[in-house]
Amino acid sequence: MQPSDMSAVDLVNAVRQGDLTALRATEAFLERIERLDGQINAFLAVDREGALRTAAAIDDKRKSGKPLGPLAGLPVAVKDALCTSDLPTTCASKMLAGFRPPYDAEVVARLRAADAVIVGKTNMDEFAMGGSNENSAFGPVHKPWALTRAPGGSSGGSAACVAADMAPVAIGSDTGGSIRQPAGLCGITGLKPTYGRVSRRGLVAFASSLDQIGPMARSAADCALLLETIAGHDPGDATSLDLPVPAYGTDLERPLEGVRIGRVPAHFGAGLDPEVAHAVEEAFAAFRAAGATVIDIDMPHADAGVATYYLVAPCEASSNLARYDGAHYGHRAEPGKGHRAEPGRLQPAQPVSGHRAEPGSGQGNASGGFESALVEMYCRSRAEGFGPEVKRRIMLGTYALSAGYYDAYYAKALKVRRLIRQDYLDAFEKVDLIGGPVSATAAFKLGEKSGDPLAMYLVDLYTVCTNLAGVGGISFPCGFTKGGLPIGFQLQAPALAEPLLLRATDRYQHLTDWHRRRPAIAARPR
Ligand code: GLN
Repeated sequence: MQPSDMSAVDLVNAVRQGDLTALRATEAFLERIERLDGQINAFLAVDREGALRTAAAIDDKRKSGKPLGPLAGLPVAVKDALCTSDLPTTCASKMLAGFRPPYDAEVVARLRAADAVIVGKTNMDEFAMGGSNENSAFGPVHKPWALTRAPGGSSGGSAACVAADMAPVAIGSDTGGSIRQPAGLCGITGLKPTYGRVSRRGLVAFASSLDQIGPMARSAADCALLLETIAGHDPGDATSLDLPVPAYGTDLERPLEGVRIGRVPAHFGAGLDPEVAHAVEEAFAAFRAAGATVIDIDMPHADAGVATYYLVAPCEASSNLARYDGAHYGHRAEPGKGHRAEPGRLQPAQPVSGHRAEPGSGQGNASGGFESALVEMYCRSRAEGFGPEVKRRIMLGTYALSAGYYDAYYAKALKVRRLIRQDYLDAFEKVDLIGGPVSATAAFKLGEKSGDPLAMYLVDLYTVCTNLAGVGGISFPCGFTKGGLPIGFQLQAPALAEPLLLRATDRYQHLTDWHRRRPAIAARPR
């Protein structure tokens, strides 16, 4: 069997047993990246040399009898929102083009310590804002199942590279659906863990109360393998949970007898594509056949999810992205027309005065000139560095946080967020999991929604509440449209119930083979 056809679990076992070298596994995936990524654009950086060097070192380690890490020899692709000290980290933004972080994100450090092989950084929507991957400053990702269509986003590169077998597993991040939605649209399995389960240190912040890193793979079993390495407390992230990490891979085969899955009838309302509705209902039937019971439940505030998310997330983003001003971080505009101070005065080491010059005071004039030039430099750097969607979010967030609007928008959104969270607490009194669609349609064409932000935001209907409530969710393929595009199913669980999410998905994947289908582009050349 070719390494690129093996599950991550089998691949790691084969390396451990000496049936496959880490070098051969890595070469197999690098070869596929070289052959396929010109059409897909899933990678923003490929670390051929570094990956081969790491793989060779792992093989040497094995030969010398040293203990191997739990992911030894496993190629992993990492979303370009996570800092890597040896590769650029751009967040798919011109603002960070060429930025080389001084340290590895905690998740990246854990992957390296587990002897995984990082093959590259994946494309995404700029600063993770988007659901189609069209907001990347470095061109969209093409969905491996139909190259004219969007792979979903914002972790579109991570989803597409796993779907096209360019990596067995990938790391994504999910603020309002960015792991689950592209996983669903690309026919792979993606898990958004409970808020705090995985350290966010070194994840470029979008909306800090919602962001969470998680695994993307071809199956629940492979997600479990990856989650076990990346989960756990990190003193460097104050929001990471100081709780033991379960052995996620060990309990997957326990039958689902007694497990209650909630079905929300309102999920099947207007806007849900009938083919998606049909596949989702079939998945509920499969869960019943696997021993679970399906119970209709109500989530009374779910319809306020998108409106709430599109206040909370932009408000946090407007604050998080304030640091990119060309001085502290990010792209700096070249001094050009309209600059009143000489460029030498605009070095970051110069003290920045908050003082506003009084008209007429000599001292103030000098300071005022400097200040206005500085502000102009900030403005131009941000105007040049950020793309249109990021600017839209910053403006939305700044407006909603401004005096006079704060109570009407941001404070109100926080109240509704509490109600949404309470819906989950109430639902989980009655059921163990909540099932349903991930996206209302199986796929949209590149360009189809990019001119209509509101239509794009509505794509997040089924995924944002999970983040607002801070609970976990997983998505996986549950069928295909007549046109051959994957359809996703989502399960959500109470906080820290990842073992149940993974087990239920694994049991479903035991009964069905949707997750085994590969796009034609992934077929091996003859
Ligand atoms: N599509 C959502 C947005 O645009 C979610 C993004 C995410 O989860 N990073 O904000």
